[in-house]
Amino acid sequence: MHEMSLALNIIELAEQAARDANATSITAIEIDVGEIAGVMLDALEFSLSVATRSTLAEEAKLTLHLIPGSAKCKDCGRTFHLSERWAVCPLCGGLSFDILAGKELTIKSIDIE
Ligand SMILES: [Zn+2]
Repeated sequence: MHEMSLALNIIELAEQAARDANATSITAIEIDVGEIAGVMLDALEFSLSVATRSTLAEEAKLTLHLIPGSAKCKDCGRTFHLSERWAVCPLCGGLSFDILAGKELTIKSIDIE
């Protein structure tokens, strides 16, 4: 499962940051997940709960924030909601656009003790 390797990676980064700060445990982790990051929230949530076992983040409260996708059309210059990576501008039918948000999969914050 793709989400499991992402979860392991996230927890590894969080633990590294906690160790660098000489923390003994991680109490909370907030993660931004883009709507078109290709990640299933439920699967990621489950994977994280497994990945935190026997780590500094074992007791951490995990919060996932879904970041809506948005894109700017290169043809008409307008911004629209992007729910899939491959889309057509709903305003002019243009096929080329810049993705402004929604691809992220990042740790937003980590609380440590
Ligand atoms: Zn357009």
